[in-house]
Amino acid sequence: MTSLDPRAPLVLDTRELGRRPGVQRELSLSVPAPAELGIEVLRVPEGEQIQLELRLEAVMEGVLVTGTAQAELVGECVRCLQPIEDELFVDLQELYVYEDIRHDRSDEDLDDEVSKLEDDLLDLEPLLRDAVVLALPFQPLCQDDCPGLCIECGARLADDPDHGHEAAIDPRWAGLQALKQDED
Ligand SMILES: [Zn+2]
Ligand SMILES: [Zn+2]
Repeated sequence: MTSLDPRAPLVLDTRELGRRPGVQRELSLSVPAPAELGIEVLRVPEGEQIQLELRLEAVMEGVLVTGTAQAELVGECVRCLQPIEDELFVDLQELYVYEDIRHDRSDEDLDDEVSKLEDDLLDLEPLLRDAVVLALPFQPLCQDDCPGLCIECGARLADDPDHGHEAAIDPRWAGLQALKQDED
């Protein structure tokens, strides 16, 4: 396991809290988005600023992080491929456990799922990634009832709802037509 880089934008130093339960600090920061934040069809562009409003609070076991992240999203409609712009707004909450506390735990499986502080540093990136992916629609659309693309010519049907083709091929002949094209 590589240790955290204190200069990385999403790595926060909690030493200031002094491990004293009840001590808290409010943070407002703007950080560049890491690569591949989101899903393929909807994401925060790499380097785009993410606005973070955070509260770090020392508790008995570690540091509790709560707050919000806000950023611009870009993507494509999964039906018609039209570019989409949207705004991301997600809640963040995670308990980062002190390293020395985790060794007291007997349940190894549980231990793997716990976020840890390393030398009083915490890494927001995994938390941010999970929160963003959970918040995004699985299949983003340009509009709820996007009709998609014409299967014959690829035109975007939302731009041209009455779109049609005069010489529509009778489905019974479509197979023959395909065969004929193969021969040509
Ligand atoms: Zn669409
Ligand atoms: Zn068409």
